[in-house]
Amino acid sequence: TKWVYSFSAERAEGRGEMKNLLGGKGANLHEMAHLGLPVPPGFTISTELCTYFYANGKTYPSDLAEQVDAAVAEVGRQTGHVFGDPGNPLLLSVRSGARASMPGMMDTVLNLGLNDTSVLTLAKTSGDERFAYDSYRRFIQMYSNVVLDVDSHNFEDILEHYKDGKGYSLDTDLKADDWRKVIVEYKAKVEEATGKPFPQEPKDQLWGAIGAVFSSWMNARAITYRRLNNIPADWGTAVNVQAMVFGNMGETSATGVAFTRNPSTGENALYGEFLVNAQGEDVVAGIRTPQNITEVARKAAGSDKPSLETIMPEVFHQFVATTQLLEKHYKDLQDMEFTVERGKLWMLQTRNGKRTAKAALKVAVDMANEGVLSREDAIMRVEPSALNQLLHPMLDPKAKPAPIATGLPASPGAASGEIVFSADDAEAASKAGRKTILVRVETSPEDIHGMHAAEGILTTRGGMTSHAAVVARGMGKPCVSGAGTIRIDYAKGTMTAGGVTLKKGDIITIDGAAGQVMAGAVPMIKPELTGEFGTLMTWADEVRRMKVRANAETPTDARTARSFGAEGIGLCRTEHMFFEGDRIVAMREMILAETEEGRRAALAKLLPMQRQDFAELFEIMSGLPVTIRLLDPPLHEFLPKTAAEMEEVSKGMGVPVDKLRARAAELHEFNPMLGFRGIRLAVAYPEIAEMQARAIFLGAVDAGKKTGSPVTPEIMLPVIFGKQEFDLVKPIIVAAAEAVAKETGVTVPYHVGTMIELPRAALRAGEIAESAEFFSFGTNDLTQTTLGISRDDAGSFLGLYTAKNLLPTDPFVSIDTVGVGELIKIAVERGKATRPDIKLGVCGEHGGDPASIAFCEDARLDYVSCSPFRIPIARLAAAQAAL
Ligand code: PEP
Ligand code: MG
Repeated sequence: TKWVYSFSAERAEGRGEMKNLLGGKGANLHEMAHLGLPVPPGFTISTELCTYFYANGKTYPSDLAEQVDAAVAEVGRQTGHVFGDPGNPLLLSVRSGARASMPGMMDTVLNLGLNDTSVLTLAKTSGDERFAYDSYRRFIQMYSNVVLDVDSHNFEDILEHYKDGKGYSLDTDLKADDWRKVIVEYKAKVEEATGKPFPQEPKDQLWGAIGAVFSSWMNARAITYRRLNNIPADWGTAVNVQAMVFGNMGETSATGVAFTRNPSTGENALYGEFLVNAQGEDVVAGIRTPQNITEVARKAAGSDKPSLETIMPEVFHQFVATTQLLEKHYKDLQDMEFTVERGKLWMLQTRNGKRTAKAALKVAVDMANEGVLSREDAIMRVEPSALNQLLHPMLDPKAKPAPIATGLPASPGAASGEIVFSADDAEAASKAGRKTILVRVETSPEDIHGMHAAEGILTTRGGMTSHAAVVARGMGKPCVSGAGTIRIDYAKGTMTAGGVTLKKGDIITIDGAAGQVMAGAVPMIKPELTGEFGTLMTWADEVRRMKVRANAETPTDARTARSFGAEGIGLCRTEHMFFEGDRIVAMREMILAETEEGRRAALAKLLPMQRQDFAELFEIMSGLPVTIRLLDPPLHEFLPKTAAEMEEVSKGMGVPVDKLRARAAELHEFNPMLGFRGIRLAVAYPEIAEMQARAIFLGAVDAGKKTGSPVTPEIMLPVIFGKQEFDLVKPIIVAAAEAVAKETGVTVPYHVGTMIELPRAALRAGEIAESAEFFSFGTNDLTQTTLGISRDDAGSFLGLYTAKNLLPTDPFVSIDTVGVGELIKIAVERGKATRPDIKLGVCGEHGGDPASIAFCEDARLDYVSCSPFRIPIARLAAAQAAL
């Protein structure tokens, strides 16, 4: 089996599209080498080996060693060094690289191949003894931490102690001789901790590092990251071994990261940061505050540190040309890492850059306008769920709060919450239902769970490409990074800024778009959508086949939905119109009434409210279809519970509280979701359906008069299991329509259809379609009844099901295509066989979920209906599904 793939400027065995085999980083290294870019020669051990490694008790196949030896020898030939030759050592980097990028989650070892003798050669050939010993001690520290499991703080303690003894304050105060002494102590520590001397044989070092990288695929933070990002554990990681290049060989060396466009705004301008005389991870780790690459960016940031453009103009121009070539080649925004070794540029990585939703939109639309992408490609480039970010709140500009500190605008959106200083505290507070802002000097991969739990993230150190910034952008959370004037005292649980000291639990607000931090809670407003948003939505609308409607019942929701581009209402849950104010009292009176007379009295109170509501909805949605569902109240949601509620209803009905309580007890159900709800209410109490139908037709007449355009209501019956129920209730609606036409002189056209939300209804769809003019799949109930999992009780065990891979995802979020989906397909087929032009839609929560929308396209439904804030997501997802 071929496990090892070599790459160099001469020859690359892999290509960019081989991500499954070589991992993202590896495939792109091969691609860059293939393009003739300056990539340090190296090789990739494939993800298949990772699979082998775990399937065979963490062992390697017998033909691996030979392939690795040959590839190492080839790297030596290319660089003129020999691995394991102390007189002419080849030094290597060993990095992980999975199919999907998992920034900082797995292990890396740099400067591998150094030992007590090769360090002398490095000192001689580099002419810089200090550099050589500094590299060796970094290697010992990194290798011991990653491979030998000796915690880094052991080495930090030794170093701090040494500095104190010498009266040094900075690492740069240490000279070659100092590092030599520190190294003696480091090695002693390793021997003490592991019982063995630090490995001197480069070959042992290399196999140790390879094993550690493969093992890091299963470390706790990688597992968490995969869970949060839906990355399957069986993908595995590849290992990339490359010749070392040094960004820390003095003032003509540097290391940095850059994006071809601004990952926060999408602006088409090279954007990046670097550090002179620094190695590897120094920039992303956020330990020193980095410098800008371009002059323009330096000026905009008001930085007094010189840009790369100024201090290394030749390298800068070569780098700019390289970034442009890469962007053109990949047709996407690139996120790159580079190193300059004594004036020579080396490209260490390129990948499609993570970006905010705002940037994703702008980059996609700009690239289509630049002719780099087709409009279809641009539509496919934006993750529908990322649009959520654009709908995030921002600070009310009228509030004009005074910031107590300013940092970098690392990830847009604004958030308020209690200050917490640790990820665990953020998680605990979130579990207790409290909102937090996670405040840290800097974040590391260990903080991921807290970043997830917090509303926003604030750090005092690190740039736009620091861990906090990158991760927050990926999560779509507001983040302010590098707010350097804030002093955090973890021990006391306080932070001080602008003369104010705040403690854990105090409320702060951060504005991730402006990079500002405010004490207290600041009022927020809904965001403005950008021009690119409108453009992409228009393009999406041109290609999608399915319509997108809204689930809405209040005027506010209906207006929001229409402004987001809803093409009508797919579900108006009439029972939700009674949640507010004292309306619920009339509703409770109706539910609790024991006689038709009592019910009619309550209904008489409800009728004018409903008429007015419907008229308003029809008006807002003028010219568009509106589907109104007859009452479907799971009783437990509406029965009065407290004594005060009972009192209120008792007054309204003129019935003693005792009697009411007895009636409520009588109505108590063990399974309200499978109880007296949906059409069963109309079967038992036809007067309820009669009142609602009257209100709908009267509202339609009112709205038609007001807007001048006739309204065609779609009336739908919930929770039916067969044609007979439908046929019993439909005549009530027909009679109401006729009565209203007679009374008002206006004939309202209308359609009567049904929800399909029980398996039996799906199976009997052929027959039901003889009567029903349309079907709307209620996938919430259809999921509940098909899987036999209660919507209200699923929380306590469903997580276990996805964790144990018994279900791919939560079926209430993404449709269970093989079970619930199969029933929908059956109903579609049988419904169409009876009534070829039957209108079909989905109105469960799945209507706003991109994966479920793809299923709906596949099932050839006519529309999806979802909550107003998900309309843009659904429009884009429907377009992607159609392409
Ligand atoms: C459904 O069951 O999918 C549905 C839309 O109805 P509700 O959520 O109101 O039960
Ligand atoms: Mg339902």
